Amino acid sequence: MYDMMSSKAEEFISDEEIQSCLAYAQEHKSDRSLMEQILEKAKQMKGLSHREAAVLLDCEIDDLNEQIFQLAKEIKQEFYGNRIVMFAPLYLSNYCINGCEYCPYHAKNSHIARKKLTQEDIVREVTALQDMGHKRLALEAGEDPVNNPIEYILECIHTIYGIKHKNGAIRRVNVNIAATTIEEYRMLKEAGIGTYILFQETYHKKNYEKLHPTGPKHDYAYHTEAHDRAMDAGIDDVGLGVLFGLNNYRYDFTGILMHAEHLEAAKGVGPHTISVPRLRRADDIDPDVFDNGIDDDTFAKIVACIRIAVPYTGMIVSTRESQQCRERVLNLGITQISGASRTSVGGYAEEEPEEENSAQFDVSDNRSLDEVVRWLMQMEYVPSFCTACYRAGRTGDRFMSLLKSKQIVNCCHPNALLTLQEFLQDYASEETRHIGEALIKKELDVISNPAVRAKAEEYLEKICRGERDFRF
Ligand code: SF4
Ligand code: SF4
Repeated sequence: MYDMMSSKAEEFISDEEIQSCLAYAQEHKSDRSLMEQILEKAKQMKGLSHREAAVLLDCEIDDLNEQIFQLAKEIKQEFYGNRIVMFAPLYLSNYCINGCEYCPYHAKNSHIARKKLTQEDIVREVTALQDMGHKRLALEAGEDPVNNPIEYILECIHTIYGIKHKNGAIRRVNVNIAATTIEEYRMLKEAGIGTYILFQETYHKKNYEKLHPTGPKHDYAYHTEAHDRAMDAGIDDVGLGVLFGLNNYRYDFTGILMHAEHLEAAKGVGPHTISVPRLRRADDIDPDVFDNGIDDDTFAKIVACIRIAVPYTGMIVSTRESQQCRERVLNLGITQISGASRTSVGGYAEEEPEEENSAQFDVSDNRSLDEVVRWLMQMEYVPSFCTACYRAGRTGDRFMSLLKSKQIVNCCHPNALLTLQEFLQDYASEETRHIGEALIKKELDVISNPAVRAKAEEYLEKICRGERDFRF
């Protein structure tokens, strides 16, 4: 029985409800009048139900599909402006006791190099990340109570926040580790994490169990209810994600929206972010054996429909995607991207030798952070290294109310300019600095409140004189 308020995974993600939505969407894929009704509702920018979004996803009417893409762009602009927040993943350890069939870190893979960063390694890696200009990290680690217990993760977080190299600092550490207990989520909260991210991989219970044949991750309910436990432990911001390619994309698209509705209804705040990774080639993993791969057009449609359905949720795309694909989805709703990522354990301070490959997946976008920043600016986006909200206590429902009233953009935009100026001063190549300074000048005029503009100008001057870390 479907119940979005239930605390049971199989009730808030009801298979019966998803199947019924998919059948309904297929039945109406050419129903102009229904599509138009849903689009009218979507134009109010207050989101759509999972059922309505599933109908738009299946829409087969060309001019209405154009409207869907156009609306996604408008919503993106209205809520988030043209800033794109930058982050980098940091893999702490690839020891893992789970048997996930799509991940080279699965326990039975005996030929991948197993590594775990020591605290000294972390200092080296994070210093290298700071020297690129990164301020925001997403920590990744396999599940292994012996090699990666919570104490190890907490120690790593503590080390990372303590590293101050030249003008560098990691100001926000997001964490992507296995589903765990309320007590351990409390410890993460106390350690000062930003968002707790956990990907569902697929919401289809039977396929989920097949794809996770061994290890604690096999337990569908424990995994799916993890965000609830994290929020009960006081973590305000949680991130969702599915791995497109594992299962029927329509199913997982509907499932992730139901999960978002559940968090909003039962916990009072929807997800902070939704990630949209696609399956990639990796050691011991051949994407051809998974026959649910999606093409770039479908991927773009998914991004646009998520943006319309949950305007209040940030969307993340990683370097799994090529430059070309990232360009396409950026203006359809993506708010955060990774840059210059290494998906191996270590690899920022020093390139990994081929024979020691510990990467989780192949990266499609191999450019440096300076190149990614320049590329974004050339497309008129403002790359942002902002971490202000979490540090100003704007999390959970406080953050959501600012976002829903479209006020957050008044913080995002000037903060993007300030943090970009820091990047230009400290890390950019001459060419990037040149383009960036012109962009900042132009973007200052977009700030409509004269007091905010004056303050932003004052902060920018101070940054040029060597001061750091201003924020709105
Ligand atoms: Fe381990 Fe995560 Fe890879 Fe599964 S996806 S094998 S849990 S690292
Ligand atoms: Fe993110 Fe808040 Fe900064 Fe905007 S102001 S970019 S929402 S941290």
